[in-house]
Amino acid sequence: MENEEAVNQPVVESREMAANPAYTESNYNFKTELGKAVKSGEIKDIDEILEKHLKILEPQIVDFLIPNLQVDFLYVGQSKGKLGGGKRRIIRNTQKVTAKAKRQHFSAMAIVGDGNGHIGIGKGRGLESVIAKEKALKSAKLNIISILRGCGSWECACHGGHSIPFKVSGKCGSVIVTLLPAPKGISFCVMDDIKTIMKLAGIKDVWSKVNGQTNTRINIGYATFEALKSLNYYRFFNKEKENLGIKG
Ligand SMILES: [Zn+2]
Repeated sequence: MENEEAVNQPVVESREMAANPAYTESNYNFKTELGKAVKSGEIKDIDEILEKHLKILEPQIVDFLIPNLQVDFLYVGQSKGKLGGGKRRIIRNTQKVTAKAKRQHFSAMAIVGDGNGHIGIGKGRGLESVIAKEKALKSAKLNIISILRGCGSWECACHGGHSIPFKVSGKCGSVIVTLLPAPKGISFCVMDDIKTIMKLAGIKDVWSKVNGQTNTRINIGYATFEALKSLNYYRFFNKEKENLGIKG
């Protein structure tokens, strides 16, 4: 069992993608106004872009502003075959049979984050698995958001930023993901895929509840992202901010 787990480690996959030269070039020529402003040093922080709700059109902007960006993939698919079939994989394989041929499509779901309050999620689809992964990664970078962290657990009340400030939920398809603040040291009482997202977002302790079709992992990813996003829809008084330990 232990061996199997070692093989399934997503870290190996992410390293492969992180080494992708197309995304780590430092002398990349930005084409958009926003990209040029980033390169010239006019914009130094990703938060400046996110606060103004500017649309990021080049994934390289995110690479440039967050050099320690971490990448991971959710287990959206599963392997086939008699032996070892049903194992979770990061590539989802779908087939369509037409009159002429059998077409195969691959899809993947990427998560990017800096482990400090920024998180992005994206889906990619293509005729080859590498293309699907690349597309997913690009789309995750373009979808990056900043999230609120805090400590809304009444058992803890440490006014720190290790969890989330209050209960939130997000929906995608039939799946509803609810995230609850947890006291320090609880770590993650959540599904593996949600754990990956929390880690990259920089949330250390959280409880979760998942309702609906839990086999559709893509929906779980999006629902979790929606839940985190909804943290931004609230406004607070300074005293509340202090009490809940809100930062970011
Ligand atoms: Zn706390």
